[in-house]
Amino acid sequence: MVPNPDSPASPPGGGRALGPMHLVQSFVNTLSADADLLRTREEAAAWLRTAALLPAEAGLSNSEHAALLRLRESIRDVLAAHVDGREDAAAAARLTRALAEGRLVVTVDPASTVRLASAARASYPGLVAAVAIAIAGSAASGTWLRLKCCPAPDCGQAFYDSAEAGRCSRHGA
Ligand SMILES: [Zn+2]
Repeated sequence: MVPNPDSPASPPGGGRALGPMHLVQSFVNTLSADADLLRTREEAAAWLRTAALLPAEAGLSNSEHAALLRLRESIRDVLAAHVDGREDAAAAARLTRALAEGRLVVTVDPASTVRLASAARASYPGLVAAVAIAIAGSAASGTWLRLKCCPAPDCGQAFYDSAEAGRCSRHGA
């Protein structure tokens, strides 16, 4: 069975985003009020494998696990700023720094197929690159600014704000 990163379990309380945005949404929503699916290195590696972001034989070092949690937090902060269209320069800079670990490059194959890829061989930069490509893809398709983190207390779930409600479906008006 090949895991499909675009069809994970429906995130609690969130509308469904489409395509690359869904990957970003699922990643952010590994943290909820009840649970953190990335809490330990082992749990994080298991989730990443299920999401097809980590090869079956690969694990995470302590520093990679810490960086993974920082990446998730920086995405969450940027999505929180999307709720009211606020500019958060510090959050944007943290996310830019976290995504730089993916070492994205543009590759061209003999058939002139152009792809975004990671210049690194290791599994961790590869998964950061996959998240970065998903974010770029969602920005290109216009879904990124509508992916938001619910501001309700103890929520913070990432949701696709199709109705400009500013809150997830559980906490909408
Ligand atoms: Zn909510």
